[in-house]
Amino acid sequence: MEKSLTKIKGIGVKRAEILHAMGINTTDDLLGFLPRDYLDLTKITPISEMEAGETVLLSGTVSSDIKTRRIKNMTIYTFDVQDESPETFGKPDTVRVTLFNQKYTAEKLFKGKRIYLYGKAEVFGRFADLKSPVVETDWEPGLRAIYPLKAGISRKLISNSVKCLLFGSAAPLPQEREKALEKIEIEDVLPENLRKKYSLCSAGQAYLDIHFPFDYSQVESARKRLAFEELLFFQICLKMMKKRIQQQAAPQMKTQSLSAFFSALPFSLTEAQRRVINEAMEDMKKNVPMSRVVQGDVGSGKTAVAAALCYFAFQNGGQACLMVPTEILAIQHYNDLSPLLETFHIAVALLTGSTPAKEKKQIKQALAEGNIHLLIGTHSLIEEDVLFQNLVLAVTDEQHRFGVNQRARLSAKGKNGKAPHVLVMSATPIPRSLAMILYGDMDISVIDQLPPGRQKVSTFLLHSEYNRKMYRYVADQVNEGNQAYVVCPLVEESDNENLKAVESFAEELQKEYLPPEQVKVAYLHGKMPAKQKDQILKDFSENKINLLVSTTVIEVGVNIPNATVMIIQNAERFGLSQLHQLRGRVGRSSKKSYCFLISDTRNEATLERLQAFCQTNDGFLISKKDLELRGPGDFFGSRQHGLPPFRIADLVQDMHLFLSAKEAAEEIMKNPEWHKQPENQLLKQKAARIFIQAETQNTI
Ligand code: ADP
Ligand code: MG
Repeated sequence: MEKSLTKIKGIGVKRAEILHAMGINTTDDLLGFLPRDYLDLTKITPISEMEAGETVLLSGTVSSDIKTRRIKNMTIYTFDVQDESPETFGKPDTVRVTLFNQKYTAEKLFKGKRIYLYGKAEVFGRFADLKSPVVETDWEPGLRAIYPLKAGISRKLISNSVKCLLFGSAAPLPQEREKALEKIEIEDVLPENLRKKYSLCSAGQAYLDIHFPFDYSQVESARKRLAFEELLFFQICLKMMKKRIQQQAAPQMKTQSLSAFFSALPFSLTEAQRRVINEAMEDMKKNVPMSRVVQGDVGSGKTAVAAALCYFAFQNGGQACLMVPTEILAIQHYNDLSPLLETFHIAVALLTGSTPAKEKKQIKQALAEGNIHLLIGTHSLIEEDVLFQNLVLAVTDEQHRFGVNQRARLSAKGKNGKAPHVLVMSATPIPRSLAMILYGDMDISVIDQLPPGRQKVSTFLLHSEYNRKMYRYVADQVNEGNQAYVVCPLVEESDNENLKAVESFAEELQKEYLPPEQVKVAYLHGKMPAKQKDQILKDFSENKINLLVSTTVIEVGVNIPNATVMIIQNAERFGLSQLHQLRGRVGRSSKKSYCFLISDTRNEATLERLQAFCQTNDGFLISKKDLELRGPGDFFGSRQHGLPPFRIADLVQDMHLFLSAKEAAEEIMKNPEWHKQPENQLLKQKAARIFIQAETQNTI
């Protein structure tokens, strides 16, 4: 079914290249290239019945000459159109049309020519005014797809190609749907019984209805079918991934006492932390790999849970690794964990992109010989030549930043084909129902309790005119021995201009509000050399720096419990979940903490959103709200990998479809022979294709 695009009439190498750039590589992609909207061409409105502001389709004849004017570089064409509708007093009888630069269209027009116009009426008197309407000389009733196109690819090309794929030719569609459906030539990946069970239309009908609908109900049922298919393949791939992991045996751990480790901690663990540690230890005692996600709000103490399990792995004679998304976080975990673990003779090492080559080599060797017991680092850990002597536990922190595939590659580093136990930790608290869907078949543990003595972080929304007052307050806090962060919203860590902004902002603060003899200010961003980052974090954690101006690199995981003030500049630019992560950098001890959102926005909705954020500290509530407000695409952010970019399905709107797709995947794969059954052949082939694609492109 998946063929090369150039087989289609009208698509040569050139056009195929443009299509590639639009993300369309195969005939399947082309069928699945969805309209971004539709023109409603279902019915013609008489001119006398037009209402101001309405978007309408008109049919009439050109009743004047075409007037041409030139203004600067623009050519403007105007003409009148009338139809046969009866004159009604006080209603328009003529439409005055204006076209801008549409030479090609205008040249085809003349007085007496019959045309169709589609557009939004603007001014009213006896004349209705249509500016830049769509002008056509013939009309096919129905909804007309509007595609997100690029130069060189016309709407016509897309619709003709779709027709070719569906019917074998670009001939006009038969008026009756039944007839059109009979002629469709494509196969359906979803078996019929499945389609029946979930009331889904056939693939052919879905593509016909989404590209050439008569009305919106057809669009909706087509969309439902295609979204279901997308979600089903997502679920099947997750299951395939899990199955592959579970087919491997895992190193089976034995019960060990953790009490020595517990008493070395500077605090006693919460009930929730202990429960999660126990759940994971139980998994690790089995001979199939653990596959567990730990969800816990910011500051709930996930690091201690991970450390306890690394200790457990060590007591069992195995190695562990901890993979984190940023170098800063890696450095911090290393600085925090190594003194604690080294008291038990657990050798801890740090490996990141900036580890010098020579040191890297030494680390790799020590790792292979089993002389390093816990390796902490960034993506560098999954590089192929990082080999463990006996990896039994792989932990990823802040998992939403990693793709499933990156975790899978970590899983492949076990000894003698044995897969290590896998634990992923997530600070994006999402509703359980959603977690169950997105994490596939992983087991979920929730740390639903904060360490004792934590206080609500008081949060205020301030206009920048309060800066002076606020920084005076910050200076007082520093005087009392506390510390503060200021976060500037830099969209791109790679943008050098932006990075300078952090530096100059720090300078400005010292000049304007916080003299250096009172408050020591430093700045931090992701692009700094690792040594410098390390030094700044150390100095900040030792309170040699009182206030740190930073980009959002500190968003994930950074833990300086003595910091009690978080100032977020241009707060309107952040989503709620991100604000929550940032705010989570303070309130990490029993000290009272404060968060200031600085924003001068006048947008009512934004102000409302920020005010709502000030009212609650509950991460689950916040993520739910965020999901509703922004939709999943934004919610997870382009940077935040690890979740599939759904093309059709929508996490909020299609929750019920997610559930049925999950149920359907379970139903299908319950039978271990499912991939051998004839009705599942197309399904299996497509799943395999997606699976391979996902693995190479890291999209699930
Ligand atoms: P997160 O869940 O956000 O990763 P961390 O593991 O960084 O949180 O822990 C946040 C802070 O709370 C750290 O300073 C840690 O030492 C402290 N902490 C963790 N568990 C406890 C506990 N049971 N009692 C007191 N403090 C704790
Ligand atoms: Mg953390």
